[in-house]
Amino acid sequence: MSPEYTKPVPVPQPESDHYWEQAKSGKLVFQKCSDCDSVQFYPRILCVACSSRSLDWIESSGKGTLFTFAIAHVPPHPGFREDLPYITAIVELEQGVKMPSQVIGIEPDPDLLHIGMPLEVVFEEISESISLPKFRPAE
Ligand SMILES: [Zn+2]
Repeated sequence: MSPEYTKPVPVPQPESDHYWEQAKSGKLVFQKCSDCDSVQFYPRILCVACSSRSLDWIESSGKGTLFTFAIAHVPPHPGFREDLPYITAIVELEQGVKMPSQVIGIEPDPDLLHIGMPLEVVFEEISESISLPKFRPAE
C-alpha cells in the first residue's frame, strides 16, 4: 500500500475474496441467488431474500444510475479530510443491485447531480490487493 493512503482499507472476508479479486482485475461482480433470482450487494454467504446458499457471481456491465447521494462535508475518518467535499452515493447497477460508492469526476455540487443520471464504474487501486469501485458520469 502506498504510504500516503491514509483511509481505512477493506479487509477481505472469505465470502468477499472473489469480489476483491475481480475488482483488482477491473471487473465489478455481485451475487445472484439461483433459487429465487434475487441480487445482492455486498457479498454474503446466504441469500438475504430466501437464505439459500446457492449464490452465483454475476459480472456487472459497470453501468448504472445514481439512486441517491449525499455530499460529505465532515470526514467520517481523518483520512478523508483532504477529499472534502465529496459525493457519497448509492448506485443502482443495470442488473438492479444497489451498492454504496463514491461519485468522482464531477464537482460535488447538488445542481450538477440528479437522481437517475447515468454512471459507470472506475477502479481506484489503493494497494496491491485492493481496488475500490467508484463511479463517474457516463455519456
Ligand atoms: Zn434467494
